Amino acid sequence: MDGAARLQQLLAEPGQADSALGRLCAEVLADQQRLNRRMERIGRISDGYQAELMRTNRELAAANERLAKALDDVRTLSGFIPICSCCKRVRDDGGFWDDVENYLGKHSEAVLGQSVCPDCQNASKRPVMAPSSAAGGGDEAAAEAEQLARVLANMDWAGHPLLEHYQRLSLDHQKLARRLQKISRISDGFQTQLKHLNGALERASLTDPLTGLPNRRAMIERIQRAVEAARTGPGFALAMIDVDHFKRINDSFGHAVGDAALRLLASILGEQRGKGDFVSRWGGEEFLLLCDGDDATAARSCAEALRAAVEAARIDHHGKQLGFTISIGIAVHERMLSFEDCIRDADRALYAAKSYGRNTVVCAEDL
Ligand code: GH3
Ligand code: MG
Ligand code: MG
Repeated sequence: MDGAARLQQLLAEPGQADSALGRLCAEVLADQQRLNRRMERIGRISDGYQAELMRTNRELAAANERLAKALDDVRTLSGFIPICSCCKRVRDDGGFWDDVENYLGKHSEAVLGQSVCPDCQNASKRPVMAPSSAAGGGDEAAAEAEQLARVLANMDWAGHPLLEHYQRLSLDHQKLARRLQKISRISDGFQTQLKHLNGALERASLTDPLTGLPNRRAMIERIQRAVEAARTGPGFALAMIDVDHFKRINDSFGHAVGDAALRLLASILGEQRGKGDFVSRWGGEEFLLLCDGDDATAARSCAEALRAAVEAARIDHHGKQLGFTISIGIAVHERMLSFEDCIRDADRALYAAKSYGRNTVVCAEDL
C-alpha cells in the first residue's frame, strides 16, 4: 500500500478527517492530484515541442549537410561574393545562419512545403496557449514549505498520528511542484527555440540566395501591400529590369561570370535605389524595382541613372574588363489596377525597350 492510500485509510478512521491536521492532509492530497494532472498535461505539451524541435533539427542537419556540399561547389566559382541581405555589404562573418538561410532560400519551394504542416495550420487557428511557465510550480513549492514549517512548529500537534504522514505528503508535494516548474521551463525553452527556427525559415524563404536580395515572393507581398495602400494614399511605379543578351555572357564566359554579373547588378540596384524603394530578384536575369510614389518622371530618371550605372560597371575576368547593359520597362500604378495588370504593363514596356535596341528605358504610358 503506498503512502497516499495508507493516509486515506487513516483519514477514514473516526474523528481523523475532521481534525485540523486531517483537513490539512486532505487538502494537500487534493493539491497533489491537481499537480499530477498538470504535470501530465505539461508533459504532453513539452513532448510535442520536443518532437517538433527534433524534426526541425533533423531537417536543418540534413539541409546543412547539403549546404556544405553546395557551398563547396559555390566557393570554387571565381568572383563569388557573399552579400549581406540587409546592409548589402560583403559579409566576412562566415555565419552559420546566413549560410543556412541562403541555402534554404535557394530551395524555398521545398522549405515552404514543409514549414507549416496542416496540423500546425489548424493549431494556429485555435486560441494561443498560455506559456506553460504560468503553471507557477516554484511558488507552490515555497508556499508548501512554509506551511510545513508552521505545522511542525505547532506544539499542539506534536505526536499526532497524522503528523508523520502530513510531513511526507508535504515533502512529496514540494518535490512535485519543483519538477513541474522545471518541466515548464524546459517546455518554454522548446517553444522559444521553435519560434526562432520558424523565424529563420521564414526569412530564408523571402531571400534570393545568389544575390541576397528579396525574392519574388517577398516582392509580391510588398506589391500587394502597396496596392492596398494606394487605395487611400499615393501610388507607386514598377520598373522591370532585364539584362541584355545575358545568354551570350553565359555562353561566352561561363555560368560563373553570368552569376557574378547578376550579383554586381544586384549591388548596383541596392546602392542606387531611392529611399523607400524596394528591389527584388524577380527570376533568372530579371529584377523588379518598386518605386515609392506614382511620379512617372521620377521613376524614369531613377531608371535612367540605373541603366547608366550598369553600363559603366565592369566585371574583372582574368584581367579582362567585361561590361553589360540592361533594359528597363516602367509602369505607373493607377488606382483600381490590380498588381498583375501593373506588372503586365511594365513587361510590355520592357519588351518595347528590347525592340528599340536594348540598353534603354521605356515607360508604358508612352506606348
Ligand atoms: P534579351 O536581351 O532578349 O533579354 O536576351 P537574353 O539572352 O538576356 O535572354 P534569354 O531569355 O534568351 O536568356 C536568359 C538566360 O539567363 C538564360 C538562362 O540560362 C540565364 N540564367 C537564368 N538564371 C541564371 C542564373 O542564375 N545564373 C546564370 N549564370 N544564368 C542564368
Ligand atoms: Mg529575361
Ligand atoms: Mg535578358
